[in-house]
Amino acid sequence: MNSKLMQEDALYVAPTYKRYPVEIVSGKGALLTDADGKDYIDMCSGIAVSSFGACDPEWVAAVTAQLNRIQHTSNLFYTDPCVEVAKILTERTGMKKVFFSNSGAEANECAIKVARKYAAENLSPQASTIVTLKNSFHGRTLTTLAATGQDHYHELFQPLTPGFAHVEPGDMEALERLCDRGDVAAVMIECIQGEGGVIPLSRKFAEEVQELVRRRGILLIVDEVQTGNGRTGALYAYMNYGLTPDVVSTAKGLGGGLPLGATLLGEKVQNTFSFGDHGSTFGGNPVCCAGALSILSRLDDAFLAEVREKEQLLRETFSGAPGILEVSGMGLMLGLKTARPAGEGIEDCRSRGVICIPAKDRVRLLPPLNIPKDLLLQAAKVICECCAKA
Ligand code: PLP
Repeated sequence: MNSKLMQEDALYVAPTYKRYPVEIVSGKGALLTDADGKDYIDMCSGIAVSSFGACDPEWVAAVTAQLNRIQHTSNLFYTDPCVEVAKILTERTGMKKVFFSNSGAEANECAIKVARKYAAENLSPQASTIVTLKNSFHGRTLTTLAATGQDHYHELFQPLTPGFAHVEPGDMEALERLCDRGDVAAVMIECIQGEGGVIPLSRKFAEEVQELVRRRGILLIVDEVQTGNGRTGALYAYMNYGLTPDVVSTAKGLGGGLPLGATLLGEKVQNTFSFGDHGSTFGGNPVCCAGALSILSRLDDAFLAEVREKEQLLRETFSGAPGILEVSGMGLMLGLKTARPAGEGIEDCRSRGVICIPAKDRVRLLPPLNIPKDLLLQAAKVICECCAKA
């Protein structure tokens, strides 16, 4: 790898990321190429972002066409791609309205704001607490860090935004006790804790949470930033659980590689915001929305069924493979518990031309959703071999 680039990155870029020693210069579908001309099978999609892989021709055409029309107008004007994306999202989820932003953290900020305003107006002026789960991840802003149920993210950044409480996934008693205080506005969950190690919620707990929010009149927020937009073989992961959230936040794969966040507002909260309550200069940018339209329009039932088929292929390959102790997750969001430390397996994979990333102590797989089956199986074989190595 080009050592000048590494040195200049160290000199000029804030050292918040521990990068792999690879400079990706181009890509085509599920293949990425580095500056030395080495190809990699992409089992990461830029952390669940490039839904249709690198430089997908249909996505590039949609984005380029919009770029050649108008790149930005501000939200003081109407633009067609933004309305089209909102229309598709609401029609396909039954949610009622969409607020657009640029990232997952911002989509969650919006979810939290709308829940607090709704609760203050409809439950009680004290109802401002958002309950989230331990081991969750909801973003890096001070408020979404407070929402994140992992203490080590909090330590250096006190004081965080107040009004968050965390319970263990599965601990309904603790959740009921918190609700008894009378100050809870919403419960916020990820159906699969992505950064937390690709750990799905149990169906029983998800159903109990749904029943609790209904009974208590509080809101259910589902964070679909990583799980959304076809990743788990459903348009949104909550659909796999039969949940009916009041608010859904999403980002990552929605734009297919351009920054776009969306907060979907259900019946109860559809009119909670009024003029001036929230905003974003770039939110709903027409180029990003043109990219999102190209992604969403292809996530039909047949395509989602293929995502589930690819999950089965991976599960069959990994099942019983030496060194692979457990497979977690859904669709093309899988976590492998391995006998070897995950980092070592990931490094070996990379040297053999397969890019995967960790999630806690697991190897996390997030390939492009349209990855061809032969490439997927080729990558899976390398992953098995690297995980089995003594
Ligand atoms: N929520 C979840 C579940 C995530 O996985 C992430 C990012 O990994 C975020 C929120 C934050 O998204 P962003 O980095 O786009 O702000």
